[in-house]
Amino acid sequence: MSWHILGAGSLGGLWAARLFRAGIPVRLIFKDRLRLAQYRAAGGLSLREGKQDSLYPLPAETPQETSPIRRLLVACKAYDAEDAVAAVASRLIPGAEVVLLQNGIGSQERVVERIPRARCILASSTEGAFRESDFSIVQAGKGHTWLGDPAHPDHVPEWLDELNEADIPVQWSIEIMGQLWRKLAINCAINPLTVLHKCRNGELNAYAGEIKALTLELGALLEAVGHGNLAPGLQEAVLAVIDATADNTSSMLQDVTHGRRTEISFLLGHALQEAQRHGLKLGALEQLHRHLIDHLETHGLPVD
Ligand code: NAP
Repeated sequence: MSWHILGAGSLGGLWAARLFRAGIPVRLIFKDRLRLAQYRAAGGLSLREGKQDSLYPLPAETPQETSPIRRLLVACKAYDAEDAVAAVASRLIPGAEVVLLQNGIGSQERVVERIPRARCILASSTEGAFRESDFSIVQAGKGHTWLGDPAHPDHVPEWLDELNEADIPVQWSIEIMGQLWRKLAINCAINPLTVLHKCRNGELNAYAGEIKALTLELGALLEAVGHGNLAPGLQEAVLAVIDATADNTSSMLQDVTHGRRTEISFLLGHALQEAQRHGLKLGALEQLHRHLIDHLETHGLPVD
């Protein structure tokens, strides 16, 4: 059974290349004919893993193709996911399985509402990849991906082993919303500060007071949204991530540095929206959000 990859960028391309070389049928979906033509002119997707460069001539199409889709990997940014899925929604067979790789929280719900007859599987990934140029992907770090379905947490898809055999490390989680909230909380405590202080993750150790104030509020938010079990030890978890990724540049800082739109609405923005919905006043997070918005505006970047 074929996989379709919607969003053949960094992470989507990394998945697609590994599926292809494992002999699993896979097709890329580009947003329009221009992008498809550019891809064909490039001769395929190139992937660098360590010092190894490979070119994979994966078949590709546009959303307007009419063949049915049974398994779809949505690998666009969170702000593009809903429109991208809408463009292929009529091709999804009833019961199609749709894996959502988007970071943060909020985009998944919008996609689920768009395609009520499909089964949406949410992902939280620690894999790392970036695009050196169009259709040219670099694997930046090994990691793994948790997959889960809040509507059917015990229904493990039959293709999970196939992914692991294709060198895509995945694990089923019966608590995927908890995984996504934990990642979101850690991201809110780290990424915006790296942008405002223009620093690598490790340099945040100099801002321990700010981090403590943020993690206290994020802990209260986790309680409010029903994931209070994740609140104790949040500060230690944030500090451990800072140490483990000390030399890394956060994805948000990379986006700002390259003049790209950030996923702020689905991270800090979503956290504050949920806080408001639960009547929580989170002063340190609100101030951080205001400073980040000012910073993005100063750099001429979208604030949503
Ligand atoms: P990316 O490199 O920017 O790739 C996104 C791709 O989606 C681009 O190729 C883009 O095409 C394509 N796209 C946008 N709109 C589309 C549409 N309507 N139809 C088809 N394709 C469309 O992004 P990424 O880094 O892979 O990130 C994807 C998601 O994974 C994000 O939510 C990110 O936070 C998450 N994530 C990424 C990593 C990582 O290491 N990269 C790790 C963990 C999680 P164009 O180039 O034509 O715009």
